[in-house]
Amino acid sequence: MTHLTNDELFDRARRAIPGGVNSPVRAFGSVGGTPRFLVSARGPYVTDAEGREYVDLVAGWGPAILGHADPRVVEAVQDAAGRGLSFGASTPAETELAELVEQRVGPVERLRLVSTGTEATMSAIRLARGFTGRDLLVKFAGHYHGHSDGLLAEAGSGLATFALPGSAGVPAEIAALTLVIPYNDLDAVRAVFAEHGDRIAAVIVEAAAANMGVVPPLPGFNRALVELAHAHGALVISDEVLTGFRVSAAGWWGLEAPFEAAAYTPDLMTFGKVIGGGMPVAALGGRADILDRLAPLGPVYQAGTLSGNPVAVAAGVATLRAADASVYARLDEASVIVADAVSAALAAEGVAHAVQHAGSLFSFLFGESVAGGARDYATVQRQESWRYPPFFHAMLDAGVSLPPSVFEAWFVTAAHDDAAIARIVDALPAAARAAAAA
Ligand code: PMP
Repeated sequence: MTHLTNDELFDRARRAIPGGVNSPVRAFGSVGGTPRFLVSARGPYVTDAEGREYVDLVAGWGPAILGHADPRVVEAVQDAAGRGLSFGASTPAETELAELVEQRVGPVERLRLVSTGTEATMSAIRLARGFTGRDLLVKFAGHYHGHSDGLLAEAGSGLATFALPGSAGVPAEIAALTLVIPYNDLDAVRAVFAEHGDRIAAVIVEAAAANMGVVPPLPGFNRALVELAHAHGALVISDEVLTGFRVSAAGWWGLEAPFEAAAYTPDLMTFGKVIGGGMPVAALGGRADILDRLAPLGPVYQAGTLSGNPVAVAAGVATLRAADASVYARLDEASVIVADAVSAALAAEGVAHAVQHAGSLFSFLFGESVAGGARDYATVQRQESWRYPPFFHAMLDAGVSLPPSVFEAWFVTAAHDDAAIARIVDALPAAARAAAAA
């Protein structure tokens, strides 16, 4: 255990690591102040290097649906680690994880494991291009699919926070293969297909957008998207890295599948976060005839030394097995209680806002001009985002850790019990006053 303060740790980190962080949003760039250096996490709580405990509404950016360090997951990891950390060879558990996913998510007939969401979407795009023999990719403004070349144009997440148009280091020729259109806008989809239809390999879409804050698809949007793409011989890659196994046992797809008017079958799907239970596992899955184009069966190359790592897969299997109906019921319940409490606190201070929900994911938009909610990135960006930093810091001072950007979803876990929620609720009035005064 270190005896350094967060400030001292951040100074030291900045001398050793670019910006002191290994992923940009962690640097508190949009909220200011010193990031907390965490040393442990249990249930709904995280603890920093100064020994302060916070109720956590980040949940590792999604994976910790059961709560941090769930004993069933930790035990599975310890057991697997005791049998060897990495084999670079096939294991029985990899197949078990693939089967668990295929049983839950109808469109997934085959699954290839990778280590990060970025790898999953990157490989899915290569596969879509290899399968269709086309080069162009359509993505939606504000959607984030990881940091591979070609996917950073008008992406959300850290890029939304820092308002960068893309990234240096991406060749213009590569960026030009990505066409960016507004979300939830079927006319824009029709227009892009009318103009480039026979050159489009795939449309990649967050199943429900949650990297520009939460922006759910309009009812039937995903279904119409698949129909339009298929009419032009293009594939749809539904990115469930964030929503998969979090908003339901079958992800966002599982929420829409029961309704005929909304049910859709993407060709490819990508997963991350919950599928690894907090360890580096991600995956691409979908139609068998497409997935079987991957090496060694087909000509599309994809590989990984640590793919299907036995310790990581053990965490994923234990998490998916433990995530039963009661877990999803609690996530839904806790998310509604927290979102309603935040909304009530803001309303009590006269702060105009909207609550955006996608299953148990939620976030807030600040300001009169967005109080009716947002369907796309342009609207999200019109909010009074300056009200969030003082709100965030008031919560942090009171022992509640929120996502350090207004453009991120809030995450609850099934371990957010009444005591944890009470601490959140107690912190809200002061935070709402800070937002009102901003
Ligand atoms: N797709 C989506 C929808 C995501 O939310 C993320 C990460 N937040 C990614 C892809 C990239 O995943 P990773 O950070 O594991 O590379």
